[in-house]
Amino acid sequence: MEIQRGTKFRLYPTPEQASILEEQGHAARGLWNLLHEWWTWGGRHRRPSLKQADEAIRQARKEIDWLTVLPAQAAQQVLKHYTRAWANFWDGRAKPPRFKSRIRSRMVIDVPQGRDLDVTKLSRRWATVKIPKVGVVRFRAHRAIPGRVTGARLVNEANGWHIVFRTTWEQPDPAPHAGPSVGIDRGIAVPLALSDGNHQHHGPWLRPKEAERLLRLERQSARRRRTRVRGEADSKRLTRTYDQIADLRGRAARRRADWQHQTTRRLADTYSLIGVEDLNIAGMTRSARGTVAHPGRNVRAKAGLNRAIQSEAWGQLAEQLTYKTAERGGTIVRVPAPGTSLRCHVCGFITPGSRESQARFVCKNPQCGWAGNADLNAARNIHHAAVRAATAPGSGVAGRGALQPLGGATKRQPKRREPVS
Ligand SMILES: [Zn+2]
Repeated sequence: MEIQRGTKFRLYPTPEQASILEEQGHAARGLWNLLHEWWTWGGRHRRPSLKQADEAIRQARKEIDWLTVLPAQAAQQVLKHYTRAWANFWDGRAKPPRFKSRIRSRMVIDVPQGRDLDVTKLSRRWATVKIPKVGVVRFRAHRAIPGRVTGARLVNEANGWHIVFRTTWEQPDPAPHAGPSVGIDRGIAVPLALSDGNHQHHGPWLRPKEAERLLRLERQSARRRRTRVRGEADSKRLTRTYDQIADLRGRAARRRADWQHQTTRRLADTYSLIGVEDLNIAGMTRSARGTVAHPGRNVRAKAGLNRAIQSEAWGQLAEQLTYKTAERGGTIVRVPAPGTSLRCHVCGFITPGSRESQARFVCKNPQCGWAGNADLNAARNIHHAAVRAATAPGSGVAGRGALQPLGGATKRQPKRREPVS
């Protein structure tokens, strides 16, 4: 099988190189905005051809000075991503593309061709990469680059510029996974509830001191924004506060990413068939809230931000599980979400009032009466649905031998009584 993977390294550009990267990043963003204006001019449903769009970009590069800092290849990639954003919207996977604002959007520059990059190892820890119009930039090679480099993307994060190498290699197809099957729910009480009760926890991403500091900074920035005169540029102090906030949020995001990778690897190692909820990510994550690393600054409700972070995290988790299970001979099955948290996994009935609290589920069907953890109940429903989908004729997964018979993990639980408090 062909494996494709991105590997990220931190770049250490000189101040001059950093300012060129900055210019390129803004040019790429500006080009996106120009393209968006041109595309949506005269109504959203105008669909210019790719050729027309390509021609418009070429013209713009001749006429607009600040666009020339962006290499032609990178400009082409902006067009590619822009048209893909519309395709995603038409297929119902995402919201329509919109303008990228200076503060909310993350700066991204693409280097689509790997042969231009010329990666050279300097020492055990350091290497260099050639970036078009920027020159030879050092990066910290904290690990080897796997496989062949086919391209790269430069991203600006809270702690500076990074390069993500797109790499590919061939490896033998894995033998079918022999592990058990499982259903996973995004729990309320636990981050990941597993149908076999093997829940996955994580600590808070920020230490108490850090969380306290973040809260203080956020209040500070809100206060300063309120007293700011309209139309005036942000003060130096306010900009500094923004940077400090971005730094702390970035730290939390990196710790979360680390946990995600470890957890998905463990899950893919253990289980042959993993059922997950198929969420409508587009409907859940409001792009106005920004990304996790660069959250929008006008986030009104903290709950909204948390929801956005969680759904973004869930999308990434499902994506990681997809390729990690495939590499190990396992399968991931996406199960439609409705009803999974309301239906009793033992008797299959949805009874009113069964969700006694966020964390507790008590089946009101007199013949059943299963009571227990609400997340566990949802995870078991997902497990059932996944096994059913996988064993259905024509699913391509049936007959793998790794599947448990339907209901394997759903032995009827003894009726439990609530302790009287
Ligand atoms: Zn029941």
